Amino acid sequence: MNECTAQAGLAFPHVVILGAGPAGLAAAWRLARRGTLRVTVLEQREEVGGYAGSFTLEGCRVDYGSHRLHPATPREILEDLRSLLGADLLRRPRHGRIRLQGRWIHFPLQPLDLLTHLPPQFLLGVAADAVCKPFRTSTDSHSFAGVLERGLGRTICREFYFPYAEKLWGFPPTELAATQARRRISGDSLGKLARKLQAAFTRNGQGRSFYYPRRGYGQISEALAEAARAARAEICLGAEVTALLCAGPRVRAVQFRRHGSTHRVPADAVLSTLPVQRLVERIEPPAPENVRGAAAQLQFRGLLLIYLVLAQDRFSEFDAHYFPEPAMPLSRLSEPKNYSGASEPRGRTVLCAELPADPGQPYWQMSDAELGHAVCAWVAGVGLPVAAPVLGVVTRRLRCAYPVYRRGYEEHFAVLDHWLAQMENLLTFGRQGLFVHDNTHHALIMAYAAAECVSERGELDHTAWRAHRRRFEAHVVED
Ligand SMILES: Cc1cc2nc3c(=O)[nH]c(=O)nc-3n(C[C@H](O)[C@H](O)[C@H](O)COP(=O)(O)OP(=O)(O)OC[C@H]3O[C@@H](n4cnc5c(N)ncnc54)[C@H](O)[C@@H]3O)c2cc1C
Repeated sequence: MNECTAQAGLAFPHVVILGAGPAGLAAAWRLARRGTLRVTVLEQREEVGGYAGSFTLEGCRVDYGSHRLHPATPREILEDLRSLLGADLLRRPRHGRIRLQGRWIHFPLQPLDLLTHLPPQFLLGVAADAVCKPFRTSTDSHSFAGVLERGLGRTICREFYFPYAEKLWGFPPTELAATQARRRISGDSLGKLARKLQAAFTRNGQGRSFYYPRRGYGQISEALAEAARAARAEICLGAEVTALLCAGPRVRAVQFRRHGSTHRVPADAVLSTLPVQRLVERIEPPAPENVRGAAAQLQFRGLLLIYLVLAQDRFSEFDAHYFPEPAMPLSRLSEPKNYSGASEPRGRTVLCAELPADPGQPYWQMSDAELGHAVCAWVAGVGLPVAAPVLGVVTRRLRCAYPVYRRGYEEHFAVLDHWLAQMENLLTFGRQGLFVHDNTHHALIMAYAAAECVSERGELDHTAWRAHRRRFEAHVVED
């Protein structure tokens, strides 16, 4: 069902949700099933799921880059997903590899594998860093580089995290804020890394496995959308939000473009998962100059996804290969079939290569065919030759893949956040809405919390939301 009748008036307070990624859909489901609110979701694309969606290529379900649901997902959310997906929510073993100094290291890390495969010089370096740790001081506690080098020592940082960070986020680690280390790296000290390794033996495989839906990661969002619709939420696809029409500190209506025409829908409350900068740009009358200036300072890193359709059953036994080294432009290569363990379709598999790049940069300008050739050459260069015929190359270009925490970004974000907090009936959440590095389970936690802050009369409880926001600060991304 994709008929958008958002113009129709109903007696219930109207909550308009912007974006049908997992955050927007989970909030819609939680609100609609109360039965006392009218809920409309506006999504610019023709499919749900946002960056956590899936699509089909030559019979293979593929995701927007490597996606897995982490076992760290809170029990309540996991139980809900289990009830929506049933036996389709699979528990799968993790089986990846990291390329380091010309060798392959298993990921998740395994103590014996590390001892046998890490270059001896690297091992000696880490041992020396561990011994010197009590004497290590850092003068730079404000940058990603300073915080991480103090916690992990020189070897792991210089050989792994620093080149990987620069590749992923496009800036030298000294220019990235310390928050990026705290929120993005769960093993940010040698002690935490050691505990992760120890857990490999003691936690009954937790951290060595993940949840994954049988029909691709996007099945999570599809199930949430179905449940929301069953609870009478309306999900308008192909509806690009173009303006939030305000009177004083209240949004009165949301304007969107759909199939060439412009529509307006009145709103009692608006929950937005749009990139926060884009949200601010869409508010009318326009936000003050300083707020728009701050919005312009916040940057996202782009990501090219290059899918190669291969005429073979399987390319490798691994779900993902990670490439921290600077000589390799790709950050990761994944094989979607290995995530679900699907045996179908026979004689076909897809590789998904992740190439961090921003619009306007040379890689972004390349054609699909050129990118396909480049990927084949790059992976052959690290000992992964593509031997089977390449049946097709398809790309997806994500403009807002990763928030970039450049030093000083906090001040710009605070200006936006403070100004948006004055809006009585608007709340922004989700990965791009709060400009956070997150996992899907974090986006779902935010969605549950956002829904909780909407009263039966469609009013927002900003005090409760501020308390939730403080708790979100403890979220750390799981890799
Ligand atoms: C490469 C990559 C790998 C990842 N891997 C993992 C992983 O392994 N595990 C994990 O848990 N998480 C992973 N994540 C994070 C995960 O994708 C996010 O947590 C999740 O997508 C966030 O959901 P969201 O609803 O907040 O935002 P999004 O998924 O970004 O959804 C926002 C929605 O808003 C819509 N929208 C934007 N502008 C407009 C507009 N003007 N009008 C209407 N609609 C609009 C978009 O089309 C989109 O559908 C990964 C992310 C990336 C980029």
